[in-house]
Amino acid sequence: MAAGRSIDKTDPLDLLDRQDRQDRQGIETLVKPAQFDYYAPRTLEDALRILAEAGSEGRVLAGGQSLGPMLNFRLAKPAVIVDINRVEGLGILEAGPSHLKVGALVRHAAFLRSTQVREGWPILAEATRHVAHMAIRNRGTVCGSICHNDPAAEQPSLLFTLGGIVEIASAKGRRELPAQDFLTGMMSNALEPGEMVVAVRYPRPVPGTSVGFDEFARRLGDFAIAGAAATLTVSDGRCSAARLTIIGMGRGPFRAEAAEAALVGSRLGGSDGEATIAEAVARTVSAVEPAEDVHASAGYRRHLAGVMAERALGSARSRAMGGRIG
Ligand SMILES: Cc1cc2nc3c(=O)[nH]c(=O)nc-3n(C[C@H](O)[C@H](O)[C@H](O)COP(=O)(O)OP(=O)(O)OC[C@H]3O[C@@H](n4cnc5c(N)ncnc54)[C@H](O)[C@@H]3O)c2cc1C
Repeated sequence: MAAGRSIDKTDPLDLLDRQDRQDRQGIETLVKPAQFDYYAPRTLEDALRILAEAGSEGRVLAGGQSLGPMLNFRLAKPAVIVDINRVEGLGILEAGPSHLKVGALVRHAAFLRSTQVREGWPILAEATRHVAHMAIRNRGTVCGSICHNDPAAEQPSLLFTLGGIVEIASAKGRRELPAQDFLTGMMSNALEPGEMVVAVRYPRPVPGTSVGFDEFARRLGDFAIAGAAATLTVSDGRCSAARLTIIGMGRGPFRAEAAEAALVGSRLGGSDGEATIAEAVARTVSAVEPAEDVHASAGYRRHLAGVMAERALGSARSRAMGGRIG
């Protein structure tokens, strides 16, 4: 033992005793999350009333797959938690002539099970396969993921790519926001205190629209290091509309507008099509502003953004041309 260092001779049982005494005095030491009041309302009206009373201290609990860890690490310390899992009417998953409506309690797994989603909005099913593992997909919600807005998450980027709408409610009334206005940056959204998301809507793709999605993660089920979602609308072999979104760059979903501009108006077949895709990929690589972290350097993320863009655009192009791109 080096001079000057002392040994802590506290008996672990004494320590537990002491903590128990402190807990009874209202000092939190043993539990992981900070103290909160828990409410499990059964109606939306009650949920909104509790959220209104809690103001900025209130937090919605949906699947708990992101909020749970945030509470445990004390990255979130809300005074009030409103568990919406018993609230009636939030499990709606409805495909209409103009849109798909997804209620706040629709789990990721529902996108994989629904024939309507797989046929009408195939990119939602294609991308949801990459969300975490089955246990997390069975519990985590699509709207919860959109509210959480992790920069590497699939659901916010899909809502953004497809031009979706977020339906918001509070005790004061309702409002709607387009995805690009709702998603305000890394892990943030445009909700005001007392508000919650009740549903999101995805417009039905216009005829002639094909999609592509791909992502790279170190292990199946991990968050993506980079990914891309693409939609191409083609008429008479020419691209009339394009959307390309890159995920995992360190902010929210990144819309590659310069790449989209290269695609719109271009022929997608043959060598012209190949050149157009190459130009779109090059523009994506120069436009992204990747962040560096323990998972990947900025340079590697930039490289992956190009690879993922090429794959997503390549799938969409191949599907748009009926599998014939030569
Ligand atoms: C091991 C692991 C791996 C994962 N991998 C991935 C992955 O690869 N890709 C991916 O996208 N996600 C991944 N996730 C996260 C998962 O998808 C979560 O389901 C999702 O991020 C949050 O959904 P939730 O319903 O669990 O929300 P919660 O955890 O309940 O809530 C998350 C946040 O959103 C807020 N919120 C939730 N619902 C609403 C609402 N209706 N109105 C207002 N605010 C609301 C909460 O207050 C909280 O701030 C992973 C999670 C784990 C634990």
